[in-house]
Amino acid sequence: MDIPIIELVAEGIKCRIPLSKQGKIFSLVNIGICNFNCLYCCKGGNAKTKSSHLLPCANYIGIDDIYSFIDQQTQEGHLIKISGGEPTLIWPDILDIMSYCKKNKVYVSCDTSGWNTERSIAVAEIADQMAIDLKGPPKYVSKITQTSLELCWTNVIKSIETWAKITTLLEIRTPIFNFTTLDDLTLLAQYIPQKAFWVLRRFITSEEDSNIFLSHNKYPDWLISPEHSFVNALATELLNIFPDLYGRIILLQENPRSTYGEIIY
Ligand code: SF4
Repeated sequence: MDIPIIELVAEGIKCRIPLSKQGKIFSLVNIGICNFNCLYCCKGGNAKTKSSHLLPCANYIGIDDIYSFIDQQTQEGHLIKISGGEPTLIWPDILDIMSYCKKNKVYVSCDTSGWNTERSIAVAEIADQMAIDLKGPPKYVSKITQTSLELCWTNVIKSIETWAKITTLLEIRTPIFNFTTLDDLTLLAQYIPQKAFWVLRRFITSEEDSNIFLSHNKYPDWLISPEHSFVNALATELLNIFPDLYGRIILLQENPRSTYGEIIY
């Protein structure tokens, strides 16, 4: 089966969790299909057709080409990150890709929206690490993702709760908008498992960063970037309330693919 691919990123990115502290570099396999349609998507999600769920710039590629890419990148010492779009939509091919990595002793990470608990867990059982998006509290997450509350909240929480029982290293990612409140994050904090890292990523528009990944979105007027100080203040207050999060909150102040703004609290 051919798989929709946004791109295979040969140069790699730094991992957003402590492996980056060891100088590890991930190469990306980006799956060009997604069943969410986030208003803030930097991968063109806002412009994809609802019928095909295909990100507009995706090309099709054979699974053997993905294996060749993995071989080539790991020979250069890179780790592999399967991202999206939504990797669990290429089902069951994603399991083959993850298993290929494991069979070849390649460290592999997978990003998912967590929309499908069963699939997310099946992938997590193979992966060395996983990342899931906790995109916001129920009061606005459906509006942001333009999908049902069941997919973007109920199933995501189920996925996180199930993951908490698996040993896979887990990263949970939350975009911070200028309307995000401490109450919103306090609510979300209750769902962060004890062993997970929580990445708070400052939402950034493509107008602010012309290098943003594949973005050609026109954002609604109310979706604007918060100040750096706003994100810092939220994280600081959060730690006052949840001191056990100390050492597990990671702030991404910029687009991770351009300026790598990483602060670990
Ligand atoms: S889940 Fe990710 S890839 Fe899909 S529309 Fe949202 S931000 Fe874009």
